[in-house]
Amino acid sequence: MCRHLGWLGEPVSVASLTLEPANGLLVQSYSPRRQKHGLMNADGWGVGFFDGATPRRWRSATPMWGDASLASVAPALRSGCIVAAVRSASIGMPIEATAVAPFTDGHWLLSHNGLVDRDVLPLSAAAESTNDSALLAALIFDRGLDALGDTIVEVAAADPNARLNILAGNGSRLVATTWGDTLSVLRRPDGVVLASEPYDDDPAWEEIPDRHLVEVTPSGVQLAALKGA
Ligand code: GLN
Repeated sequence: MCRHLGWLGEPVSVASLTLEPANGLLVQSYSPRRQKHGLMNADGWGVGFFDGATPRRWRSATPMWGDASLASVAPALRSGCIVAAVRSASIGMPIEATAVAPFTDGHWLLSHNGLVDRDVLPLSAAAESTNDSALLAALIFDRGLDALGDTIVEVAAADPNARLNILAGNGSRLVATTWGDTLSVLRRPDGVVLASEPYDDDPAWEEIPDRHLVEVTPSGVQLAALKGA
């Protein structure tokens, strides 16, 4: 189970969202506060951001706290749409940079917190790795992000034990699901943060209920209950 974070708003630095907050993804990599499955997130990290319409990524299969260059470069990576994650690989899954979120289809950046039986997911030549999250990302990209809620309900029906928290961004919107794990939203004057857990103790963080679809656009945050709940 991993931790992820998304931003939509004014351009801000990757460091300001992930490295600088008291309980940002960097601290969540070794000491998450709300993680229900797994103790820490040492199996890799990924930061993704939109450069105009182009998604760009930097991923690693090593712990975020040990990277020699991230702290130097992240303050210079600025964007109005960011998706970042730290990974705790599930048992049996490969430890490699291509297995770490965010995944992309060239238009979206997508992260998965959770676990799903790979036997219920179609094999896909487009999957970036063989872990469950990469296969699930390929299925979601294939169905289209507008069908995200339907895809999650369908996968959950096939694997009732699945945990399916998804977070994706395309430069102009974020979409996310809660299905088995935590997600919080922070509405700031300069934009909106979605995060597996709050990166600080600001009382403005709100928890998203389980089994919901969240959509963030420049005009606001919308929540909808997922059918099949
Ligand atoms: N099932 C995931 C994996 O091993 C676990 C990490 C996560 O929560 N995305 O890739």
